Amino acid sequence: MKIVISLIAMVVSVLGFAESDTKFRKVKLGEGALLLTAIEENSTNIGVLKDGEKLILIDPAPGEDKLQELEQIIQDEYGVKDLYVLNTHGHGDHSGGNEYFLKREAKINEFNFEFLKKYRAVSHSSNDLIFYHMKSNSIFVGDIFDANWHPTFYAGGVDGFIAAIDSILHIGGEDSLIVPGHGRLVSKGILKGYKEHTLNWLARVDELRKKNKSIDEMLLDKELRNILEHFNFEKRSPFLPKKAERLFVERSIAILGRSGGA
Ligand SMILES: [Zn+2]
Repeated sequence: MKIVISLIAMVVSVLGFAESDTKFRKVKLGEGALLLTAIEENSTNIGVLKDGEKLILIDPAPGEDKLQELEQIIQDEYGVKDLYVLNTHGHGDHSGGNEYFLKREAKINEFNFEFLKKYRAVSHSSNDLIFYHMKSNSIFVGDIFDANWHPTFYAGGVDGFIAAIDSILHIGGEDSLIVPGHGRLVSKGILKGYKEHTLNWLARVDELRKKNKSIDEMLLDKELRNILEHFNFEKRSPFLPKKAERLFVERSIAILGRSGGA
């Protein structure tokens, strides 16, 4: 019944009818695992995992009114439990709700769970954590993979990015579900493609910079633009603001300079 209700809620919220009733889109990932995402552009995916008396929130995003509703949802769904908060990394859109739950006596980033595995990476930030929830076969990867944006591997560079994606690909099985920091859930096959497109992007930027192309010229390069479109999972038009496109090229060049080329 709960599945039916959340499916209806999902359909209704996609259609835009339920926005006054709820601030969240709710998806059941599997046994004891929910995904809550605020209904607004580029919001953070929040994991809700239950095991016995323990309830874990992964990446509660900031915003007092949303946090109040988030708390209400977990109370309604599970009642009061030992509450834990984990963050995939320290950026505000993933850890901004910590304080709210700290006041409700949640334990913050204390990790001691048998039903969850934790892996470290350096890619999007200098301290990226990946959580694998075995029962629902879901892997929470934070912004190592962001399905709403271009890749952001600035902390780890090319090597850190490859190591992070490869370690995700080794977690669980072929049918594990990848839960990105933002945007839709994907399969491992999609993540493999994402790695390839990212490496193609870097290789093309590298090629263009070696031909002494300016950033303006790079932004007009047809091949580079085609690669960029592969990151546009939601088929937004335009995918990125012009400023973000430019910054992505600039930061890619900086990464390539650091690693001596792709
Ligand atoms: Zn984020």
